[in-house]
Amino acid sequence: MVIMTVISSNLGYPRLGEHREWKHLLEHFWKGQLDTTAFHAQAKQLRLANLKKQQALGIDLIPVADNSDYDHVLDTIAAFGVIPARYGHFDQQLDLHDYYALARGTKDAVASEMTKWFNINYHYIVPEFDDVHFQLLDNRWLRYYQEAKDELGITGKPVILGPVSFLKLGKRNGQYLDDAAVTELLPQLLPLYVQVFQELAAAGVQWIQLDEPTLVKTTQSAELRPYKEALTQLHAAAPTLNIELQTYFDSLDLYDQIVTLPVQAIGLDLVHDHGENLTDLLQRGFPTDKVLAAGIIDGHNVWVSDLSAKLALIQQLLAVVPSDHLWLQPANSLLHVPITTANETKADPVLLGGLAFADQKLAELSTLTTAANKGTASVQAAFDRNRANLDALNQSSHRNNQAVREAEAHLTDQTFERQAPFATRIQLQHDRLNLPLLPTTTIGSFPQSSEVRSKRAAWRKGNLSDEDYQAFLHAETKRWIEIQEQLGLDVLVHGEFERTDMVEYFGQKLTGFYATQNGWVQSYGSRGVRPPIIFGDVAYTQPITVAASVYAQSLTTKPVKGMLTAPLTIINWSFVRDDIPKAQVQNQIALALRQEVGNLEKAGIKIIQVDEPALREGLPLKARHWKSYLDEAVYSFKITTTGVQNDTQIHTHMCYSNFADIIGTIKALDADVISIETSRSHGEIISAFETTGYDKEIGLGVYDIHSPRVPSVDEIKTNIQRALRVIDVHQFWINPDCGLKTRQEPETRAALANMVAARDAIQSQL
Ligand code: GLN
Ligand code: ZN
Repeated sequence: MVIMTVISSNLGYPRLGEHREWKHLLEHFWKGQLDTTAFHAQAKQLRLANLKKQQALGIDLIPVADNSDYDHVLDTIAAFGVIPARYGHFDQQLDLHDYYALARGTKDAVASEMTKWFNINYHYIVPEFDDVHFQLLDNRWLRYYQEAKDELGITGKPVILGPVSFLKLGKRNGQYLDDAAVTELLPQLLPLYVQVFQELAAAGVQWIQLDEPTLVKTTQSAELRPYKEALTQLHAAAPTLNIELQTYFDSLDLYDQIVTLPVQAIGLDLVHDHGENLTDLLQRGFPTDKVLAAGIIDGHNVWVSDLSAKLALIQQLLAVVPSDHLWLQPANSLLHVPITTANETKADPVLLGGLAFADQKLAELSTLTTAANKGTASVQAAFDRNRANLDALNQSSHRNNQAVREAEAHLTDQTFERQAPFATRIQLQHDRLNLPLLPTTTIGSFPQSSEVRSKRAAWRKGNLSDEDYQAFLHAETKRWIEIQEQLGLDVLVHGEFERTDMVEYFGQKLTGFYATQNGWVQSYGSRGVRPPIIFGDVAYTQPITVAASVYAQSLTTKPVKGMLTAPLTIINWSFVRDDIPKAQVQNQIALALRQEVGNLEKAGIKIIQVDEPALREGLPLKARHWKSYLDEAVYSFKITTTGVQNDTQIHTHMCYSNFADIIGTIKALDADVISIETSRSHGEIISAFETTGYDKEIGLGVYDIHSPRVPSVDEIKTNIQRALRVIDVHQFWINPDCGLKTRQEPETRAALANMVAARDAIQSQL
């Protein structure tokens, strides 16, 4: 007799390897230290190890083909022959060199564009659907299904990016595909998906996970047409292959219509859905002929789940669907969290007890599945441990800082505005700073040379004393102050040599942050990042940047800009505690940074830049959530920056983004000067300002810093002149697009020299 029970299922497992073996594998191959055969053998070992781990953790339905040699969208591109012509013509499976050429470029062909995966910090390769001739070059889903079966006896669930999301994530003629383009291309692509599905069905595959994350962005019934068309055809062509239609990262606005699509399971995100999917389930019910694949464990944060609360949720779900129609899953692929807390050997045990990375999340799922099937008693010890861990963290001093609580309580009886309006402030600032027309500056960082990096590494390992490291940092700042003076820049910076990363650095100096030892997550390709974990109340205990700025200022009569990272960017690039609202954490950070701003001002720093590069990229997926996000961004920025005198000049900086969406926010920040990356946005920011106007000072990046190429004086002049058509010359600043930390010194000096020369040339004609 088959026992009908709730089962556990996973959506995807991290690729990097516990000790970043995968990253090293890719990089050794790229450096020519590994040949293709050795690469494939080692990649296979990693794949199998990941599958075995999931099996050992008790997961019933294990994903296969979620692995990748770079990125899952690139895999889909390569499988379906969506190869841009510049890489050549292919009629069989790409070899590794060709595959990586798409991602990384060759000497003759530029790399494919990369962009953020929905609203998280993973970057995918953007498909290019220009002149495309779809052809199935590789049924990788079958290959990996077979491998798991043959090698480990695991009957896996192949994961495939759905045809509509695949199309919508790509571009044609430089534009993301609109619905008309999707409708036009889908009939060409769909037969290849049909072939994949039929081959899988023929091999006896029972379930396929078809990811259509773009479904969470659909709001009009008409937009569902291509999804429905695709699913109907796939199901008709391979009726024995069950389809799990997987959505994630938000709720479904078209719940009723989506749950009745012709598939056998629907995967819903019950964590990042603002409670909306659950409401729909409870109020509208769920089709009796389908499995509910319930995403109940947070797949992009790092906290232990409250198992009792999750069990209560499962009971609610069991009132909607029978137990043999319920799967318990993470809310999205675990690709976006680190692998295991087991390697965090130095973490405070109270914090460690509250952390769950991928493996711990799978263990939670398996515990909850057992509890759902056999009752809590069978896993009582795990539930007790869970309760004790959560209580210990929540009741710890980390999360109960009285001073922080009091400061928060006073927020409501304060307003956060500068003393005088901009028109008044800017006059006082001009009088105090005495800068020329079209002042020149940079965004903050100068090249992190191999010497800077090796000194830092030596200091971290204890091989370089604090004094020697400080002396080195001072020497580097001094050298660059001299270079900036020689170049003739007007507003100088200390160079940020002490920072590996603009968020990590502040995390190290504020309370409430934990820097992981091994909490790597894939950012793009082989590149991993270790986001700091904000686990407690954030408090200011010591000046952070004051000494570095004051030292730099002591070396020059020109103004040196202080340089801070704004609260929202710190939040967006960290894992944030989930026991209190994000906005509250953001305000705690803002209150701390407000003190830093005050201390910089007191120490004589006349200009303070507060960077908010990640503001646009963190926008919620649904437009109805934008307002509160943007309002919170403005509020925390103003807490940070409004405590200063009128003649202290506040700058901010934002990186490349679609600014049209946030121009109102840019204005509302009330920064005296903003610098924005422009050179890759094809003038769109300039035209946005043309239509809406801008009354404060602004620097639109006059050259692209993402390539080592040194722009000519004429090119920079052209960029400045173009901007001056929409921005008054009295408001305009001259600066590069972004920080220069990834550049080499010679190209940086040459580019900045040209930038100053271009400014001088334009100035002399005024
Ligand atoms: N001040 C930072 C720097 O120059 C800004 C970086 C960024 O915008 N991402 O490096
Ligand atoms: Zn930037």
